[in-house]
Amino acid sequence: MDKRKILVIYTGGTIGMMMDPSTNSLVPFEFKDIYHQLPMLPLVDAELTFTDLLPLIDSSDTNPDFWIRLAKCISDNYEKYDGFVVLHGTDTMAYTASALSFLLENLAKPVILTGSQLPLGVIRTDGRRNILNAIEFAAAHQQGQPIVREVCVCFQNALYRGNRTYKADASRFNAFHSPNYPKLAEVGTYIEYHKHFLLSTDTSAKFKAYTQMDNNVAVLKIFPGMSTNLIGNIFNTPKLKAVVMESFGVGNAPTSSEFISILEKAIENDIVIVNITQCKNGGGVEMGKYLTSKHLSDIGVLSGYDMTTEAAVTKLMFLLSNCPEKNKLIKLMITPLRGELSNE
Ligand code: ASP
Repeated sequence: MDKRKILVIYTGGTIGMMMDPSTNSLVPFEFKDIYHQLPMLPLVDAELTFTDLLPLIDSSDTNPDFWIRLAKCISDNYEKYDGFVVLHGTDTMAYTASALSFLLENLAKPVILTGSQLPLGVIRTDGRRNILNAIEFAAAHQQGQPIVREVCVCFQNALYRGNRTYKADASRFNAFHSPNYPKLAEVGTYIEYHKHFLLSTDTSAKFKAYTQMDNNVAVLKIFPGMSTNLIGNIFNTPKLKAVVMESFGVGNAPTSSEFISILEKAIENDIVIVNITQCKNGGGVEMGKYLTSKHLSDIGVLSGYDMTTEAAVTKLMFLLSNCPEKNKLIKLMITPLRGELSNE
């Protein structure tokens, strides 16, 4: 069989930087020069093509427009390549992976995001290993079919479902966690795929890239003593359509009548409220387990189950634009669309 064709899309971030000896600071290098940084690349068992998604950005500047352009770049090249590697800053990589997972429907090829904590041009970089692993995952196939058919994050010898991850560490190489879904694969002397955890996309269904997202979404992190005035102001934001409410534990929130009536009024005004937990290391919302969450379900707050903030925010942005019928949107919000939540 011919070598798998992989498109490597560089979007910016630390991975593509090198030390400029004249200024002693990090500057982006031109990706066409990547073979200087990774002289072993020609040995990889895949045919690689590199492209830049311009303008290159620090991932703090990602937004729906960027996600749609990235989805379009993948869609425009979908038939030409067997897999895609996206080189991205780590800071918001989990948001981009989540957004892409929703924008790319019936994805039957691997889209592997990776980056690094240290630039490729630095001797102790983690980027070298991450990029080589990502290419290997993007090229992996069995009986002519790609093994991975979803949007993933590859970091520090592991492959994760992208919409289950969050950036958990600002400096250690093991930067990404997936608290509520197991690793999809692990790299040791062999690559071990946990195949029963991979999405099994129907390869005959037609691939589609969506081109719209609505950013009239807010995140409300509840804390003890939070002023109802502040909460009220958030819900009074003009054009606001949905709120991801980060609550305590298994979905508990204050029970004061002022707080509840703000939420109740927002729901009457057609604002969708999704309850997710602030706990980062595992577990999700179980509405009604305690009385302090039962009142939320009684007024129509939705359970986000075990979704990450990253998945909940981007899913709402996706559904608000692409699902005009409110009842359907509510149903889809609590249903796994791309393996982003477990509701059983
Ligand atoms: N600020 C950088 C970014 O996210 C950090 C990184 O790439 O790791 O673009």
